[in-house]
Amino acid sequence: MLTLFDTYERKVRPFTPLDPPQVKLYTCGLTVYDYAHIGNLRSYIFEDILRRVLEFNGHEVLHVMNITDVGHLTDDADAGEDKMEVGTRRAGKSAWEIAEIYTEAFKQDLAQLHIHEPHIWCKATDHIGEQIAMIQCIEANGYTYRTSDGIYFDTAKLDDYGYIARLNIEGLQAGSRIAMSEKRNATDFALWKFSPPDAQRQMEWDSPWGVGFPGWHIECSAMAAHYLGTFFDIHCGGEDHIMVHHPNEIAQTQACHGTRLANFWLHGYFLQLDGLKMSKSSGGFLRLQTLIDRGYDPLVYRFFCLGGHYRAKLTFNWQAMDGAATALQRLRTAVSQWPDPTQPDETFLADFTAQVNDDLNMPRALAVVWNLVKSDLPGSVKKATIIEFDRVLGLGLAEWQPEAEQPIPAEILALAEQRQAARAAKNWAEADALRDQIVAAGYEITDTPTGPELKQRAAHA
Ligand code: AMP
Ligand code: ZN
Repeated sequence: MLTLFDTYERKVRPFTPLDPPQVKLYTCGLTVYDYAHIGNLRSYIFEDILRRVLEFNGHEVLHVMNITDVGHLTDDADAGEDKMEVGTRRAGKSAWEIAEIYTEAFKQDLAQLHIHEPHIWCKATDHIGEQIAMIQCIEANGYTYRTSDGIYFDTAKLDDYGYIARLNIEGLQAGSRIAMSEKRNATDFALWKFSPPDAQRQMEWDSPWGVGFPGWHIECSAMAAHYLGTFFDIHCGGEDHIMVHHPNEIAQTQACHGTRLANFWLHGYFLQLDGLKMSKSSGGFLRLQTLIDRGYDPLVYRFFCLGGHYRAKLTFNWQAMDGAATALQRLRTAVSQWPDPTQPDETFLADFTAQVNDDLNMPRALAVVWNLVKSDLPGSVKKATIIEFDRVLGLGLAEWQPEAEQPIPAEILALAEQRQAARAAKNWAEADALRDQIVAAGYEITDTPTGPELKQRAAHA
């Protein structure tokens, strides 16, 4: 029996599909004004594990992910600038171009991390019509008002606005009298923003209320309902979505369709960098490519993330990455030495299943993996069992091969010979300079009683 922690109910609940065998899953996608940082990617790894565990349990998952390419403002209170416009200035390209570039880069990151692509990708800018229709529905039901800069959602019209966040509405209201401008309530949010009267935006559309662009939250409510229906199984995002984005998605859906959009709401906790929040604006911006450039296999990052429970913050540092690299290398080496698979071991399989089904307890599932490695079962049984586990782990364990020793290139051999000649002539300075060249090219040279030995320097796993 699979159980999952539902933020809406604030408890671990048994999961059963609303419309078996299908499970409809919506995950909030990236705002494509920049590359994904490894914090964002932690959330997508968690969601990938969720999807794989659902499939492991025999469900057929229909997975939808949006791409936010308009309307996500730098300030959650609807005051800041569209992040896409910020990205445009930084990159010196149009908003449409950067959306394309960062979406492609994001897809590459997902592939390198063995994260399954959603069955349906949907871009906010491809669904302006659905968003306008939903705002009209909310308006017709009496939940909107107009200010000088847009159409807003009146959160006071819902009895339980912010329930998922357990918001203290009175406290919020009292604390923000000044910063509210024309908003009626502190928690009200924009559904449609007007283009500034004095400037032409790169992305703007005509609407029943005037030229402008949709607020950030409406895209997810509109596209989720469009592809998955107005009440589907699971909606996910990072923990930051608990306070604003998801209460607003739910409010819009309640106002238009009378449902809370999803049966389960799941949230992945943040990756942090030495106690700081990892963000695109704070300078703590590490991309997957940053890790690759440092010599790490991208799957080391996936393995590192599996070591933390998705409902706990995880702290990133290079030592922890090295630890993950060593452990993954050990695991891969062990698996590569096992013979061809026969039948999986039922006891280990049951143990692993119990852990992943216990609200995706991956740290405990990894402990089962190590117990399997250490066990005295025949290698062929271990191999068959790990292949089953890897349907969830997604580490490609059965396919991994130790890298074949590469032959030493001729120019490196030539340098080594010149160095021998320099040593024979007691020309130590030249010998040292030649050694430096060999090392700089990524090789190690060790003098042994039988002569110098050359080998390629070990990279990270
Ligand atoms: P964004 O590009 O801001 O729309 O965020 C994309 C996804 O990454 C969302 O699900 C966020 O909740 C999530 N996210 C943002 N920062 C972090 C972080 N430091 N750790 C984990 N997830 C994050
Ligand atoms: Zn969303």
